[in-house]
Amino acid sequence: MLNQFITDAYIGIGSNLQNPFLQVASAIEQLALIDESELHSFSSLYLSRPMGPPDQPPYVNAVAWLQTRLDAHSLLLKLQAIENEHGRTRDGERWGPRILDLDILVYGNYTIEDQSLSVPHPGIKTREFVLYPLHEVNKNLMIPNLGAIHRIQPRCYTNGLTKLSI
Ligand code: ATP
Ligand code: MG
Ligand code: MG
Repeated sequence: MLNQFITDAYIGIGSNLQNPFLQVASAIEQLALIDESELHSFSSLYLSRPMGPPDQPPYVNAVAWLQTRLDAHSLLLKLQAIENEHGRTRDGERWGPRILDLDILVYGNYTIEDQSLSVPHPGIKTREFVLYPLHEVNKNLMIPNLGAIHRIQPRCYTNGLTKLSI
């Protein structure tokens, strides 16, 4: 479904399998091609420690800022299609290694809680690999229920997060 207005949506990107650097770069290219949407900007790529099972490779993460007329659920379907195109499987353990993960972090000023979507994404506040690139793409971002990114981000431990490129 299309919205009457354009909404700013922030997408968290992560990969730790099959050349994660290339997976994330390719995901950004695919995000730029989503219907009814424009890629406004994207963050540097970051190297992060895995969350969940520790016996997995490090992650490459980034955040993309999209401006879209798609509603949040339609956008989620587009993201899942891109994950699938990259060979994402859904049979592993929670937070286990994956070729590509695309999460809707923030969708305008909306809060959504239903079977398929929690927006803003519930992990934002505690995940350094989300907060640092999100702050990089928009230092003025206000996150519904959480507040200003420039207040939340410095409170989050970097946990070895490393910026890879600008
Ligand atoms: P996490 O969401 O904690 O980062 P994950 O990304 O590994 O975990 P997935 O396996 O990618 O989880 O997705 C599981 C389900 O989460 C999806 O089927 C999707 O419907 C749901 N989901 C809920 N909120 C969101 C969101 N904001 N963005 C993407 N998927 C979401
Ligand atoms: Mg995720
Ligand atoms: Mg996900």
